[in-house]
Amino acid sequence: MNIHEYQGKEIFTGFGLPVPGGTAVQTVEEAVASAKEYGLPVMVKSQVLIGGRGKAGGVKFCETIEDVKENATNILGMDIKGHTVRTVLITPAVDIDSEFYIGMLIDRNTKRIMLMASAEGGIEIEKVAKDTPELIFKQIIDPRFGLLDHEAMDMGMRLCPDDIKKARQLASAMQKLYVAFVESDASMAEINPWIFTPEGVGHAIDAKVSLDDNAMFRHPAYEALRDLEAEDPSERAAREAGLSFVKLSGNVGCLVNGAGLAMATMDLVKYYGGQPANFLDIGGSSNPEKVVNALNIILADKEVKAILFNIFGGITRCDDVANGIIAATNSMDIDVPIVVRLIGTNEEEGRALLANTDLVSAETMDEVVKKAIELAG
Ligand code: GDP
Ligand code: MN
Repeated sequence: MNIHEYQGKEIFTGFGLPVPGGTAVQTVEEAVASAKEYGLPVMVKSQVLIGGRGKAGGVKFCETIEDVKENATNILGMDIKGHTVRTVLITPAVDIDSEFYIGMLIDRNTKRIMLMASAEGGIEIEKVAKDTPELIFKQIIDPRFGLLDHEAMDMGMRLCPDDIKKARQLASAMQKLYVAFVESDASMAEINPWIFTPEGVGHAIDAKVSLDDNAMFRHPAYEALRDLEAEDPSERAAREAGLSFVKLSGNVGCLVNGAGLAMATMDLVKYYGGQPANFLDIGGSSNPEKVVNALNIILADKEVKAILFNIFGGITRCDDVANGIIAATNSMDIDVPIVVRLIGTNEEEGRALLANTDLVSAETMDEVVKKAIELAG
């Protein structure tokens, strides 16, 4: 789950990171009132779950109340890469002398948390990563010890080789960010930029945090951070229906039981030159209601031109699954072709049931995937 900058900053503050104060508001009047409270200058910052707000005109420096009014009016309701701005953060503007990037993420190769940092912080970090990756420094963190003092200080000195005071502040910020990351069960936490004022005081002035959905049970309070309006509607429907779903941009809708099989199916769709429209793990049940929910979610995507069922019958029997699929598709008005592969317990009975329907049945995984791609055009 991605959270907004103002929410990420609240988490950061709780772990002792220096963040300028701020208030999230939804109207121009509230924006003006909180600007008056903080005193000028302030920043008006769009709160959307997408990067590059600054470049899109969604982050504005305001010297006067007139500026606040004008910018809040323009930014509230603005569309940033398909995300509508409903909330802006009003925060005291700081004087910026230098900007840094500090990020924590999970490195899948080492299976550890990795600190990444650069002196080239600011709005162009993606460009830095692409064109001059050597300017981004990395440190793999041993979970037994956390980010050790000397590791943090070494990184601080790489970023600020000529200024020990700044290096120390950076080192301390990186250690706090590590603790915040671990304690909140984040999967990503970025400060971009971390800034120093001309007086040499450091602040985290942006926060980008993703929380691990699988750890939400440990943080019941974080559920309130979920922005239901900003979430992809199909992903929300799937979560509410208890389905594990990720929307992608292809045209082959995939309905699979088991996450591993779902991944393998998507791999094979790609292998044969197709594009999966989604990842969907329907779980171990043959319940027609679940199939209907899953089909509704997939069919809401108008890009989907064919639907591919790939079901392994273990404890769930293939004939039950076939009946579930038939009951579900009969109760719906579906105008895209459906291809089904059933394998495992009672597969023959399952296929016999499908033979009396419009559903296309295939025996092997290669076959069913090729057919689905062909039908999707
Ligand atoms: P992003 O574009 O979505 O990453 O939004 P940021 O919060 O990182 O802001 C983008 C840029 O706006 C920063 O890199 C800064 O250059 C500038 N900016 C943000 N906050 C302040 C501030 O308090 N004072 C000044 N002078 N500039 C700011
Ligand atoms: Mn930023």
